[in-house]
Amino acid sequence: MTPDERVADLLATFDNEGRDLGDLLCDRHPADAVAFTVVQPDLTFRDLTYGELAESSRRFAVALGELGVQPGDRVATLMGKSADFVTTVLGIWRAGAVHVPLFTAFAPPAIGLRLKGSAATVVVTDASQRAKLAPSEDLPADDARRVIVAGEAGEGELALADLLAAADPSKAPVVERKGSDELVRLFTSGTTGTPKGVPIPVKALATFVIYLEYGLDVTADDVYWNAADPGWAYGLYYGIAGPLAAGRRNILLQAGFSPETTWKVITELGVTNLAAAPTVFRSLRSAETPAPAGIDLRRISSAGEPLNPDVVTWGAETLGAEIHDTYGQTELGMSIVNGWHPDVYADIRHGSMGRAMPGWKAAVLKEESDEIAEPGELGRVVIDLAGSPLMWFTGYVDAPEKTAERFSADGRWYYTGDAGQMDADGFLYFSARDDDVIIMAGYRIGPFEVESVLVGDPRVAESAVVGVPDALRGEVVEAFVVLAPGETPSAELATELKNRVKTKLAAHLYPREIHFVSQLPKTPSGKIQRFQLRKERTEEISKA
Ligand code: ATP
Ligand code: MG
Repeated sequence: MTPDERVADLLATFDNEGRDLGDLLCDRHPADAVAFTVVQPDLTFRDLTYGELAESSRRFAVALGELGVQPGDRVATLMGKSADFVTTVLGIWRAGAVHVPLFTAFAPPAIGLRLKGSAATVVVTDASQRAKLAPSEDLPADDARRVIVAGEAGEGELALADLLAAADPSKAPVVERKGSDELVRLFTSGTTGTPKGVPIPVKALATFVIYLEYGLDVTADDVYWNAADPGWAYGLYYGIAGPLAAGRRNILLQAGFSPETTWKVITELGVTNLAAAPTVFRSLRSAETPAPAGIDLRRISSAGEPLNPDVVTWGAETLGAEIHDTYGQTELGMSIVNGWHPDVYADIRHGSMGRAMPGWKAAVLKEESDEIAEPGELGRVVIDLAGSPLMWFTGYVDAPEKTAERFSADGRWYYTGDAGQMDADGFLYFSARDDDVIIMAGYRIGPFEVESVLVGDPRVAESAVVGVPDALRGEVVEAFVVLAPGETPSAELATELKNRVKTKLAAHLYPREIHFVSQLPKTPSGKIQRFQLRKERTEEISKA
């Protein structure tokens, strides 16, 4: 099958007039195939087959029906990665309802924003998370909202185990959902400000599968581990929904991130295909516990933020494969990738985030007009809707202005909000988020290039580069640096780092100030929030 034929085939499956999602995401796969391997912090693990999941999710769909949940209603989850979590999510979809994932790293204000923005009528939580749902200023009590707890239920709450035990799986509903019907309501990461609500339709499953096949090259023989949390797009699309749509297995680690457990899961479960965010790879690289000898992964992929070239090389030296950078958004899923599929992505280019996936067409437009930029010219990264049958995003929830900002008036282009370049062969190079571009004395500077040079020094674990106001030059470059464990800040080190940028990048790009900090502001999914640093520094400077 050619990639185009595969795209058409998947669209026929996932973008049609009506399919039962229970069948599409579970029942049509072999009942004895493993859907998820749930790993406990002590590394004991349990395989959950598609057959077991079919039974438990049928029970949950029945229970939701008895609570009055109708197709299209929103049901939220605030749960760790567990068998109960996947039962719940699949049960929601089987009932034709819309899943609203709440990240376990969220505090009550973030939970409140999403519950309000989705008008969820039911929230399923677990023992470790339920306290966050207690009524508070950020989360006003709502009598209409039912809370289901995986674990012991408190007053007014329902116990998931009781609901599952009481439900008759043979009574499970068969609900037909169209390709355009809402499957998930997820909020963007909030890296640049208030998160935006994105309705994800059933059709998006087609592009999730394309990424698993052409981007990650997950095969039947792989032990695939998407380590991202299902509370944000990468973990939900490619750790839960995509694997279910493709009938593949994923590993769910029921524990927070630590380098030690990561190494153990990789070695003990024999992981061959790993996907995670750059923050994970950066932490593994600078961890005090180095990678054990003998790790030999077949495929490694990264997404969500640019990947520093040093980290790519570290992957090849330490883990057995280069880390392929892939680009996407909550609004698109992955769409521009250094894929692993040997037929389509025989060559990759270092420093590039890749080429458009099958089913997608990307372009770079000039800064001021919707004309296509010259090869190598810095401009706005866009999706060409005329050549992107897999595109599924049509707009944000209740935000027509924000939606309008994303699309050209003629409906041809989707503006990603990111700046970059494309070379003559269609490889895209990320420069910066539009908001993070630094304009110093007329030069446009992407912070990421400077950050990569800083991180190239083994004493630096992470860095964030921002533009701060300067009377003379408009903006100047400043860097925030987190040192590797055991390193101490000093004026000498600051000078050395400045010189490193001067000699390895360009004399004018060196950070005028280096701030040594113990951590960087990040979204719960680990993305660096440069706007916070910019805001702090701007305030300090205006006071000075
Ligand atoms: P918000 O829109 O709320 O500010 P966000 O844009 O971080 O948050 P996501 O949808 O999770 O929310 O992230 C998409 C963005 O992440 C992209 O627009 C891009 O800026 C960045 N990104 C994702 N992958 C890559 C990558 N491989 N290289 C560079 N940037 C990336
Ligand atoms: Mg965004």
